[in-house]
Amino acid sequence: MSKNIQSIRGMHDFAPAEAESMRMLEDKLLQVLHQYSYQEIRTPIVEKLELFKRSIGEVTDIVEKEMYAFEDRGGDYLGLRPEGTASVVRAGIENGWLHNQQQRYWYLGPFFRRERPQKGRYRQFHQLGVETFGMQGPDIDLELILMTQAMWSAVGLHSDHVQLQINSLGDTEARARHREKLIEYLLAHLEALDEEGKNRLHANPLRVLDSKNPQVQAIVGDAPKLIDYLDAEAKQHFEQLQVSLEELGVECEVNPTLVRGLDYYNRTVFEWVTSKLGAQGTICAGGRYDNLVTQMGGRATPAAGFAIGLERLHSLVEEQIAAEVENIDAYFVALDDSAVNYGFKLLAKIRQQCPHCAIQMNCGGGSIKSQMKRADRSGARLALIAGTDEVRNKTVTVKYLQTQDEQQILSEGQLIELLNQ
Ligand code: ATP
Ligand code: MG
Repeated sequence: MSKNIQSIRGMHDFAPAEAESMRMLEDKLLQVLHQYSYQEIRTPIVEKLELFKRSIGEVTDIVEKEMYAFEDRGGDYLGLRPEGTASVVRAGIENGWLHNQQQRYWYLGPFFRRERPQKGRYRQFHQLGVETFGMQGPDIDLELILMTQAMWSAVGLHSDHVQLQINSLGDTEARARHREKLIEYLLAHLEALDEEGKNRLHANPLRVLDSKNPQVQAIVGDAPKLIDYLDAEAKQHFEQLQVSLEELGVECEVNPTLVRGLDYYNRTVFEWVTSKLGAQGTICAGGRYDNLVTQMGGRATPAAGFAIGLERLHSLVEEQIAAEVENIDAYFVALDDSAVNYGFKLLAKIRQQCPHCAIQMNCGGGSIKSQMKRADRSGARLALIAGTDEVRNKTVTVKYLQTQDEQQILSEGQLIELLNQ
């Protein structure tokens, strides 16, 4: 006998209950995006591999180790998107949406990284991402932070359970000056570096700061900090953001080792971190990427964004949200064949006049006993029962499944009234 085919490691099915609470979580987040007047953008899940290499950077975890990349039948090298920013920038340049314009976009969907699966880290995961273009001041950084904070409150995440960390990566010149000093420092601590650290030392020393290896992390604390190399403008940008956060009562911690795992960031970077999810504690990460549009061939356009890891956020609020899931309203029980079509007609009318009601029709026949069992299992509040009498009288017998109320015979109008209560 052949073995059953299994899903790919790190790629998961969502059972209906999980899918429903995820959908409810998404709805709450989208409501906040609507309040802030952000627009949805959809881009393909597959792009040319080159797009991710050029934007995210060759010497990053994502491009070095995590890409799902393949050659298609026409000989093109393609990749499953590991993140959203590259595609949105590509689409913006290609369609002329960016130059001399302000844009506030969001997207939601699956992303792919071939990393070691563990709780909160999957090979197919979902992000809600936001990208903004054409705004260079710290005010848009502030808006992004305030909006994410509003999102936590909208999904019922207690403010004690997430902390905001911010940092500034400065601009190109400061980065170059810092890089030199950092390489010097790392060379002096070569014995603490792992293979990866040594490989990155010259190619991308900033990445070494992002290492998850404890031995490497131990020397990171004393490494030269980018924040000490900022020029006046970047410094002012960062200070202004901090003053605003303070004025608006947003608590945050400046974390000088926060560098982010992608190459394109500059100036403000931020993460929302929780201690409730073990090592996979970052639920949202973002920052500015003012040089990416030019780097990708467009005209200079300031930009900033973030992405929320939906599985991680979901696991923090799943229980509360599951408690909000509502049962269906009614289950229709047909006692004989004539009642089936009567039922379909009646339910069509009800669905028009009580658009918020969820009613399940018994399909597949069955005795009254087995139909009532299905009604119970459906979680419905009411069983709507019809046989020859009800069909003749254009009525329905209503049985209350969750309470002790007496059963009733109702006309169509009375039933609609009851369902609309
Ligand atoms: P990490 O340091 O945890 O690997 P990252 O810096 O690679 O995160 P980003 O590229 O910033 O992550 O992605 C934004 C968010 O998406 C993360 O903060 C996290 O919540 C989520 N995320 C990233 N990779 C995964 C994954 N493999 N599985 C589930 N969620 C993920
Ligand atoms: Mg990662």
